[in-house]
Amino acid sequence: GLTEETIMTTVAFIGLGNMGSGMADNLVKNDYNVLAFDLSEAALAKAKEAGCTIAQSTEQAAAEADIVITMLPAGKHVKDIYSNQILSSVCEGTLLIDCSTIDVETAKSVSELAEKKGLKMLDAPVSGGVAAAAGGTLTFMVGGDADAFDKAHGVLSAMGKKIVHAGGHGAGQAAKICNNMLLGATMIATCESFQLAKKLGLDAQVFFDIASNASGQTWSMTTYCPVKGVGPQSPADNDFAGGFASALMLKDLGLAMQGAKDVNAQVPMGELAAKWFEMHCEEGNAGMDFSSIINRLA
Ligand code: NAD
Repeated sequence: GLTEETIMTTVAFIGLGNMGSGMADNLVKNDYNVLAFDLSEAALAKAKEAGCTIAQSTEQAAAEADIVITMLPAGKHVKDIYSNQILSSVCEGTLLIDCSTIDVETAKSVSELAEKKGLKMLDAPVSGGVAAAAGGTLTFMVGGDADAFDKAHGVLSAMGKKIVHAGGHGAGQAAKICNNMLLGATMIATCESFQLAKKLGLDAQVFFDIASNASGQTWSMTTYCPVKGVGPQSPADNDFAGGFASALMLKDLGLAMQGAKDVNAQVPMGELAAKWFEMHCEEGNAGMDFSSIINRLA
């Protein structure tokens, strides 16, 4: 219903692609006034249908907003749009929230640029895919100061079910890429264990029953099992269609490798996972769910 906060709050939403369109839709449903802008005419038409007001430019949307939310492909877009369009056009007191998945360094430097202009900014990447964006069940991992986090809580809650304050600027991105590096590596480890078990003559269901209750248990096994017919329903039961694309896993592993290099961290398992997902994508599997990497280990 209408609350004092939402009836008065205008959100500029920049980047209405696969994720942003569902997120903006949920803001409209929660009675925010959404000013939308995207370079794609098709994305804008869809946003209009969902009840957003279409802006003429990023600058115009930002100038009229209480809160700016961006959901863009990569770090270079975020850096460019904040440096050249948003920071020069927003009013004092506007809260800036970038929900894109980008490298920690860019997230920090763009936030610092905003702070220099006296503006509050948060990095708030999400986990959960297109379905969670549409359903309003995303998890937000948020970096920035506590005041800004408190101010953002309402608008993020309209798009997600779990909102976590991870720390200062860049901490949201750090949480996202560290989690996904762990997921990439443990998915491969789970897949190779199933394949070795099979070659050693051990039945997949029997191995699942043992390992899922033993010290080898992983999320990749018990929640997202890469073997057809074993464990709960997962993309493996649907020929690896849908789910979390290998290309997106590769993107996140690339960001993790970049972050590791920047701070001189050793990530041998992450490096191997990045290499394997790179090969997997090059072989034509970029659009398939990431658990399809089990086929490379046959
Ligand atoms: P997308 O490519 O579908 O959407 C990005 C949108 O940004 C496009 O509509 C594009 O036209 C628009 N855009 C690009 N440059 C612009 C500019 N200069 N001005 C205005 N609009 C511009 O991407 P997506 O799948 O929605 O992902 C967005 C972000 O969310 C990425 O960083 C991605 O890594 C992350 N993410 C995606 C998923 C997923 O499952 N798709 C899950 C979690 C996180």
